Amino acid sequence: MLIGPAVLGLALLATFGLFSRRADQLRRFVLLGTRGRPIDDLPARVGAEAVVVLGQRKLLQRFVPGIMHAFIFWGFLVLLTTIVEAFGEVFTRTFAIPLIGRTSWLGLIQDVFTVLVIVGIEMAVFIRKVVRPDRFKGSHLEEADFILLMILGIMLTLLGLNAARIALGVNESPAAWTPLSNLVSHAFTHMSLGTRRSFEGLFLWSHILLILGFLAYIPYSKHLHIFASEVNVFLASTKARGALRPLHIDVERMGEGQGSLGAATLEDLTWKEILDTYSCTECGRCQSVCPAWNTGKPLSPKLLVMNLRDHVFDEGPKILAARKAGEEHPPAALNPGVVEDEVVWDCTTCGACMQECPVDIEHIDHIVDMRRNLVMGESRFPQEAGLLLRNLESSSNPWGADQATRADWARDLGVKVLGDGPAPEYLYWVGCAGSFDDRAREVSRAVVRLLQRAAIPFAILGSRELCSGDPARRLGHEYLFQTFAERNVQTFRDAGIRTIVANCPHCFNTLRNEYPDFGADVEVVHHTELIARLMRDGRLRPTEEVNALLTYHDPCYLGRHNGVYTEPREALDRVPGLTTKEMPRHRERGFCCGAGGSRMWLEERLGKRINLERAQEAIATGADALGVACPYCLIMLDDGAKAEGKEIQVLDVAQVVARSLGAD
Ligand code: SF4
Ligand code: SF4
Repeated sequence: MLIGPAVLGLALLATFGLFSRRADQLRRFVLLGTRGRPIDDLPARVGAEAVVVLGQRKLLQRFVPGIMHAFIFWGFLVLLTTIVEAFGEVFTRTFAIPLIGRTSWLGLIQDVFTVLVIVGIEMAVFIRKVVRPDRFKGSHLEEADFILLMILGIMLTLLGLNAARIALGVNESPAAWTPLSNLVSHAFTHMSLGTRRSFEGLFLWSHILLILGFLAYIPYSKHLHIFASEVNVFLASTKARGALRPLHIDVERMGEGQGSLGAATLEDLTWKEILDTYSCTECGRCQSVCPAWNTGKPLSPKLLVMNLRDHVFDEGPKILAARKAGEEHPPAALNPGVVEDEVVWDCTTCGACMQECPVDIEHIDHIVDMRRNLVMGESRFPQEAGLLLRNLESSSNPWGADQATRADWARDLGVKVLGDGPAPEYLYWVGCAGSFDDRAREVSRAVVRLLQRAAIPFAILGSRELCSGDPARRLGHEYLFQTFAERNVQTFRDAGIRTIVANCPHCFNTLRNEYPDFGADVEVVHHTELIARLMRDGRLRPTEEVNALLTYHDPCYLGRHNGVYTEPREALDRVPGLTTKEMPRHRERGFCCGAGGSRMWLEERLGKRINLERAQEAIATGADALGVACPYCLIMLDDGAKAEGKEIQVLDVAQVVARSLGAD
């Protein structure tokens, strides 16, 4: 009688010994890194657990593979009760979980979820073996197959156990409450009592041993996301997706050769970044939407994370062993050994990967941290980046233009340039593109005309406006970014500015989401938000028809990074005569123009040009006009359309609305 519990005790000891040994090792690998973001905003983190983990929201963005995973995940949660029951049965056959155990409704739920998990496994096999989507390229499919097989084994042994219990007459639920188990139980009806008992024992023990084997195996496999991803979601940033983590730069310690300037080695990664690598399911959703990967470049966000994980598993034990022995371990550089430099520079920081990732891996943090080291620590970057940095340092704008000419575009418009007097209601933050690029200047002029038409009190900063610092920050020059941020924030304070309207989503994102880390206390709106509101309130009344078919392109830093999808469309919908048509990739799935992440100033040497890919998608809709809400997108897509040799007018939302007001 005591043999069963004794065997179970030994099996549990062995399993938890193996599990906790590996868990401790994984914990120590994480602690090799740096602390990273503070774990604040607990309600948002708990909410993310409920929505992303329990609700499977991000997985369900793609319904078929999402529901497949949800069946298996939800099934496992429900079937935790069956695991407890199976362990209890080793002690006494009549074991029941207090209050809920052996009730008919629990039996029904368990039976239904047993079916759903098996259906989920069949769907997974179909997707992997028959559909074979490209996103799995580079994933460890054999190991995933083995895990699916284990889960199937757990389900089938559970079903066999329940069926054998019904055949033995020890299942309390009426047949109708456990229809599947009841159906399978007919297979035992012609067997003797002893044989049925033997099957009951066989299924019980194989079920238990499979569960314990699963528990012991997973942390040693490449699929430890099953345990890591819940923690990863909890630790993910609760800020807007576009906000980067500030790097504390201690110049004095840098002079002594200490302190971090980004991610040079494993020990420079943050705890969250190391946990990210454990959490990757290798599903390839990120890879399938990445503009770099989709245009033939070496960057795959999935492979990047997988390579970093392999490095953690390879390097982590060596560092720990060296520390234990009190020896020096020569640091292994992340670039180019683990991640090639080209991969780091290919990223447009569009956020498509993070939008898709079901376990909240933050790819952009990894990439920007490596860029920070390459730029600030090693001065190793593409040649064109050198020109960008020189222009920023010498002229405070990427164009290298004379700051004194910053407001030249507005000369004949009667725009107030903010001086010593009180600040008006709005500061119009023009941005460098809107100040110095000819095409983007036309957008600035349209914005001014709209603000004037709506009688909005506003002013610009003129030559007191410096680059927001976004290009420096995304390129990895955090120090330069911080000097711009501090100087601009000081200007806001000196001028008493409370509200800013910006038409560049990169500036909008930086001012709204990143400047608060440097003391800014201003409200920042995008011009499309303000225009939509003014049209809604009747302060901008379109009178002239704009007879065109327009397709709207979502700028990454407005849409995915800040969730502004509706307002630009609302403004366009209010323009009489204008019809709109969506591109296949729009809103959350919008495809980057290729300019973000400072790619605007870098050559695209490999693969197809991203702006061409997007311009072709717009042209294929048959539209006469391509609507944008970002000066970078305007420039990139206009260039793309010209390269394609097709007539499609690229216009900012402000220009379209101004045209409908006769103010263009
Ligand atoms: S941010 Fe965009 S370009 Fe960069 S890895 Fe993710 S999907 Fe690719
Ligand atoms: S990083 Fe996220 S989306 Fe990409 S393969 Fe891993 S789990 Fe999937």
